[in-house]
Amino acid sequence: MCRHLGYLGPAVPVSGLVLDPPHSLLRQSWAPRDMRHGGTINADGFGVGWFAGGPPVVYRRSSPMWTDPALGALLGPVHATGVLAAVRSATVGMPVVETASAPFTDGRWLFSHNGVVRGWPESVESLAARLPVTDLMTLDAPTDAALLWALVRARLRDGQDPAKAVASVVLDVDAVAPESRLNLMLTDGRSLVATAWTHSLSTLLTEDSVVVASEPYDTDPRWTPVPDRHIVTAGVTPPGPPSLAVLRLGTD
Ligand code: GLN
Repeated sequence: MCRHLGYLGPAVPVSGLVLDPPHSLLRQSWAPRDMRHGGTINADGFGVGWFAGGPPVVYRRSSPMWTDPALGALLGPVHATGVLAAVRSATVGMPVVETASAPFTDGRWLFSHNGVVRGWPESVESLAARLPVTDLMTLDAPTDAALLWALVRARLRDGQDPAKAVASVVLDVDAVAPESRLNLMLTDGRSLVATAWTHSLSTLLTEDSVVVASEPYDTDPRWTPVPDRHIVTAGVTPPGPPSLAVLRLGTD
């Protein structure tokens, strides 16, 4: 199961979030704590997307994060007010290609999926029926995560609120492919939406920032686990304090 991390707050070095902490994504790529649903390492690619004043910048690879000699030098000087980073453990049958690594992006959005859509690829037909054909033909990669991104993106383009787009995709996919694992994360650098749907997720709220991550990256006592089948919505609009809400999915 892959791992992902999102950050909103004052500009910080991206390497300080992704590479340096004691249990960083870099460390989780080869020594994750909680691989409860199979897999032992996250070696099938990685991606880092960040906001530093304009549209997001994305760097992704199909190789393990720990084998990239340029990453420290690349991320060290970058200060970002929003980050979405992920390490990938490809689901069996899905290709190890750069375009299958999160974050997926379009315009101001970055998106990631930890988990699996059950019944793949048979379930794709009923899911794809919910998509405009042009979107299906432009999937980033032949993977469940890329299809989920296409579903979310189509709803954003229809003008849906980001939390509603993400929540409705989780509930629709679960209806078509029950017992799917659907930890999704979506951010535009100011707001962030993430779901905990049969996989781990934690939040870290400080006086001026929010982090949402599959696993805590350090021992800060403010890390709080998100209950299963819940959605996190977070926002940072300086100079106000960050906002964070955790709601049950599918009860309204
Ligand atoms: N199923 C997705 C993929 O293969 C995500 C994999 C994961 O969470 N391990 O890209």
